[in-house]
Amino acid sequence: MGIITIERKVLEKNDELATQIRNKFKDNNTFVINIVSSPGSGKTSILERTIEVLKSKIKLAVIEGDVQTDFDAKRVEKYNVPVVQIVTNGGCHLDAKLVKDALENIDLKGIKFLVIENVGNLVCPAGYDLGEDYKVVVLSTTEGDDKPLKYPKMFINSSILIINKIDLLPYVNCNVKELRENALKINPNLKIFETSCTTGEGIKEWCSWILENIKD
Ligand code: MG
Ligand code: ZN
Repeated sequence: MGIITIERKVLEKNDELATQIRNKFKDNNTFVINIVSSPGSGKTSILERTIEVLKSKIKLAVIEGDVQTDFDAKRVEKYNVPVVQIVTNGGCHLDAKLVKDALENIDLKGIKFLVIENVGNLVCPAGYDLGEDYKVVVLSTTEGDDKPLKYPKMFINSSILIINKIDLLPYVNCNVKELRENALKINPNLKIFETSCTTGEGIKEWCSWILENIKD
């Protein structure tokens, strides 16, 4: 029983901080997404393809969350966009405090689009508001079509679903029609994109959606 109370307090404190951060983003007209998924679904690859398309159009920045290493921040750095790596040292999700601290190392002025790449984990990142406009859940076809039913909270709390690695469909046991149905059963409001970072399919549509959301 005690554990439940403590967890609630932690989340209340997190929500308070997230509201502060959200107001900061609003004041600055920064559109913010929080990308969540299990490890290896292709979050960083999607981010790389996205940066390639958007870099010349808008000013953007990235916060990378990882349990260990700055590999992903190094991948993003190659594109000459501002990036901060948060290493959680075993922590399985980002929280608003970590994001708040990371923001001290980013000059938000003029930044129209901020991507927070969360720690790879389909469970607890669902419960932590980071002040983002939208949670974007990435699911790769290699993970199968049943994941929305097995990890419903993540799909309930996300607004966007990216089905990634669609180029692998001929080789994996994943029925996209069923995956879509399962996801929409859990959250009928989900907006769904299908992408491949190898062929580039769907990246244009995804980036157009981002541009539609950019605030003046
Ligand atoms: Mg990554
Ligand atoms: Zn966690």
